[in-house]
Amino acid sequence: MSSDSILQNASIGAEIMDRIEALAKISESPNGLTRRYLTPEHRGANDLVGSWMRDSGMTVREDAVGNIIGRYPADCDDAPTLMIGSHLDTVVMAGKYDGMLGVVTGIACIGSLHGRRKHLPIAVEVVGFCDEEGARFQSTYLGSRAVAGTFDRALLKCRDENGICMDDAMIAFGLDPDRVHEAARRPDELLAYIELHIEQGPVLEEQGLAAGVVTGIAGANRLIVTVTGTAGHAGTVPMKLRHDALLAAAECSLVVETVVGDFRDTVGTVGRLDVSPGATNVIPGQVVFSVDLRAAEDHLRLNASVEIQRQWQEIAARRGVDIVAEVVHAAPSAHCAPHMQRQIAEAITRVEGRAVTLPSGAGHDAAAMADVTDVGMIFVRCAGGVSHNPNEAITVADADIGARVMLDLVENFRAER
Ligand SMILES: [Zn+2]
Repeated sequence: MSSDSILQNASIGAEIMDRIEALAKISESPNGLTRRYLTPEHRGANDLVGSWMRDSGMTVREDAVGNIIGRYPADCDDAPTLMIGSHLDTVVMAGKYDGMLGVVTGIACIGSLHGRRKHLPIAVEVVGFCDEEGARFQSTYLGSRAVAGTFDRALLKCRDENGICMDDAMIAFGLDPDRVHEAARRPDELLAYIELHIEQGPVLEEQGLAAGVVTGIAGANRLIVTVTGTAGHAGTVPMKLRHDALLAAAECSLVVETVVGDFRDTVGTVGRLDVSPGATNVIPGQVVFSVDLRAAEDHLRLNASVEIQRQWQEIAARRGVDIVAEVVHAAPSAHCAPHMQRQIAEAITRVEGRAVTLPSGAGHDAAAMADVTDVGMIFVRCAGGVSHNPNEAITVADADIGARVMLDLVENFRAER
C-alpha cells in the first residue's frame, strides 16, 4: 500500500490530535497547560511519548540532558541518521500544539513506516526536546543545545523561581549534570534535522495553505531607548519652544515602521513606552521605549538597525532632545539549508499542489540544531496565527497534511551536503 493510501482517510491526523490531547493533560496547573523542564510533568511527558515511540517500532532512550529519543533503524548497517524533532516543554499557560505537534507528527510517520514494515536506507530518530521555551530557568534551547554540543555549563548554576539550581534539579530528575556533554551528537553521524511546527503567525492562513517551507529563523535585536527632553507646563510653554520627549519617541517609533519596510522580511515592534512624569498637564520630559527588531538575514537586521538609529539622531537634533539606545539582546539568525528547503517544497507541492516559503520570526530548536547539522522546517497553519495562548488551534485536516508532507519528505529524503 502506498503511503498516500495509508494516509488519505485522515486517520493519522486524528491519531495526532488524540495524542496532542493526551499530552495536554500532563500539566502543572489544571486550568491551562504548563510543563517545565525537570518537573514531574516533564517525566510524565517523556514516559508517554516514549511509549508511543516504542509502539511505533523505535528503540527509546532518554539522553543526558533529558531529551526523549526514539530510533527507527535503517534497512542496512552503518546508515546515517535523519533527525525529526521539536520540544515537549511549554511556556506558562501554553497552547497544546507549540512543540508537541512536531514530536507527535514524527512518531506518526514512523508508525506508518512500521505498519508497512518498511525501513529506509537511512535511520530516522524522533526527538522530544526537554526545554526549548526556557520557562523554568529563563534560558532557551537547553535540550537542542545539548544535542548540538553547544550547551553552556555555566547554565547549570541557574536557579528557578523557587531558588532550585538546575544541576540539583537534574539530579532529582535522575540525570547527572556532569554528563550533559554526552547528549552531544557528532556532525558526521547526522544527515539533517527536520522540525515541523505550528506557524505562530497568519501567513499560511492568508495563503489558504496548510503547510509552508521555512527559509530561516530570524535573528533578533532588542533595544531600550531613552529619550530625554525637557518637562514643562502644558499651558505656558509655546509649541515652538518645547522639547517634548514623547513626540520625539512617537516619531522614532514611526521611523522603525518606515525603515523596516525598506528591508526584506524585516519586522520591528515598539512594544513598551514609559512616559515620565506621566501627568496630563506636564510636557513629557523623558520616555523610555523598547524596540524588537527581527529579520531572516542578519545583515538586513543590522543595516535596518543602523538606519533607524541614524534617523533617530536627526530627530534628536531637530527636536532638541537626547536619544540613547542600548542593545540588551542580540541573537543571530539561522538558515534552513537550501537543499532542505527544496526537498520540503517538493513534498508540500506533491501533497498540496503548491508551496510557499516564509521566514520564522519566532525561535525554534532548529536554530540550535543548525550548529551541528543541516536543518529544515515545515510550518503548519494555526488558527488566526495565535500561539503561546490556550486558544492555539489547528485542524485535524491540517495535522494530516503536515504528517503527509513529513512522511513524503522522509521517504524521499536525499542526502546532500
Ligand atoms: Zn515551539
